[in-house]
Amino acid sequence: MSLIVAKFGGTSVADVERIERAAEKIKREVEAGNQVVVVVSAMSGVTNQLVGYCDSISKLQDLREYDTVVSSGEQITAGLMALALQKRGVSARSWLGWQIPFRTNDMHGKARITDIDATEIQKRLAENEVAVIPGFQGVTARNRISTLGRGGSDTSAVAMAVALNADRCDIYTDVDGVYTTDPRIVPAARKIKKISFEEMLELASLGAKVLQTRSVEIAMKKGVALQVLSSFEDHIGSDIPGTLIVKEDKNMEEELVSGIACARNEAKVTLLGVKDEPGIASKVFSPLSKAGINVDMIVQNIAADGETTDMTFTVPRTDLARSLEALEKAEIDYKELRSAEDVAKISIVGVGMISHSGVAEKMFSTLAEKGINIQVISTSEIKISVLIAEDYAELAVRALHSAYGLDKED
Ligand code: ADP
Ligand code: ASP
Ligand code: MG
Repeated sequence: MSLIVAKFGGTSVADVERIERAAEKIKREVEAGNQVVVVVSAMSGVTNQLVGYCDSISKLQDLREYDTVVSSGEQITAGLMALALQKRGVSARSWLGWQIPFRTNDMHGKARITDIDATEIQKRLAENEVAVIPGFQGVTARNRISTLGRGGSDTSAVAMAVALNADRCDIYTDVDGVYTTDPRIVPAARKIKKISFEEMLELASLGAKVLQTRSVEIAMKKGVALQVLSSFEDHIGSDIPGTLIVKEDKNMEEELVSGIACARNEAKVTLLGVKDEPGIASKVFSPLSKAGINVDMIVQNIAADGETTDMTFTVPRTDLARSLEALEKAEIDYKELRSAEDVAKISIVGVGMISHSGVAEKMFSTLAEKGINIQVISTSEIKISVLIAEDYAELAVRALHSAYGLDKED
């Protein structure tokens, strides 16, 4: 007998028919003698619609109310999933975040999980009751509803797996695993059978939305057996139906570049004519960090005139209005504040990069051949990211995918 956490994403619960199909899968797990916790997302498109309602009132909304609104999609699917299971003779009940309770800090809109009390769920699992949990939502110490950031149901699932000491965490989605890049952008993308936590973490944080970054972080730290698989296929009889996310082992193929990610969720902010003096970076970035905004790529030029310089950085697009407001209110000496949303960040990821040279040069020359201008560059041991005009994003991903030999053979 195993304890399994199975998470179904938005497209996998897009309508009642799909919820019923997912319920069939869970029924089979139960019949095989397993204890199951199901984590569900909102039906696809619902969260976007809810975010749209909030944005139409104000882009600078009270995030506590935003969370009250956007968490509601998951409540519907949790109830429907419990009904679909009951119809099949499977004992099941839904648990809202506050009922568990699934506690988070009070960073509304992107809350972090602080504690999950799984006692009651554990007791019911032992009595063969399936627990259906809405992903994405939690409750703060002040008893307000919180959400975990877009794509957060993955993190709910992994955190539940940790709290319950589950044997497996299965992420059911609309692709049959993790690919070398988004298979919807590059049809030649290849499925990766096993990927290291480190590489998955980079790919996720750089835009491969197949798993939320935080979910990979937690799984890596706690050693959760995590796999990504398709909710539309039958896996019975197959050994490795999807992609396993595993600890890096010496026998893994060390590809130079294992994957390419594209993120369109960042915006570029430029401060022109900033005083070039000690402490300026702190003056610019501390108001942003106080507002809970994560700055990503940064470039600062050397002052040509010895006095002023330009500073460019990226922030999440959803935080752009808040970032501009924070910068305008802060006491920073600059001439002009500019922003642009039509940018995309393209990244190449691979543990093999550590021991090879010329990887970056190939990236830059491939983009140059396509006439694509690089606006900002950032690197780490196992990734290189560039910021380019959004219109060229797909072209860049395709060109790099083939330049690094990742295209599948026909
Ligand atoms: P869910 O609703 O199940 O959470 P998401 O839409 O959040 O699903 O994530 C799955 C999507 O992630 C896929 O449909 C695919 O377009 C996208 N994706 C991006 N990069 C990758 C990748 N490297 N491998 C697989 N899918 C990827
Ligand atoms: N429904 C939420 C979203 O669309 C959470 C999730 O699906 O993971 O972001
Ligand atoms: Mg998702």
